Amino acid sequence: MSSDPGQGRLQCPYCDSYEIDRLYLASLRVDSCVCTSCGARWDEDASTGEFRGRQSQARTSRTESR
Ligand SMILES: [Zn+2]
Repeated sequence: MSSDPGQGRLQCPYCDSYEIDRLYLASLRVDSCVCTSCGARWDEDASTGEFRGRQSQARTSRTESR
C-alpha cells in the first residue's frame, strides 16, 4: 500500500536499494536518479515516473569528474 504509481520508483531497479538521489532536470523533463548504494544512474520521466533507461554519459552536457 505504500507504492505510489505515477510518482516514480522509490527503489533502485538494479539493487533494490532505497538510497536514491533524485535530481529534476527541467530542460529534459526527467528525473535523473543516482543510486547511492550501487552507483547506478538512470532517468525517469518526471511527469509519469516512467523508467527511461540507464543514463548515457554522452547525453548530459554536464561534465562529471568522479
Ligand atoms: Zn542501486
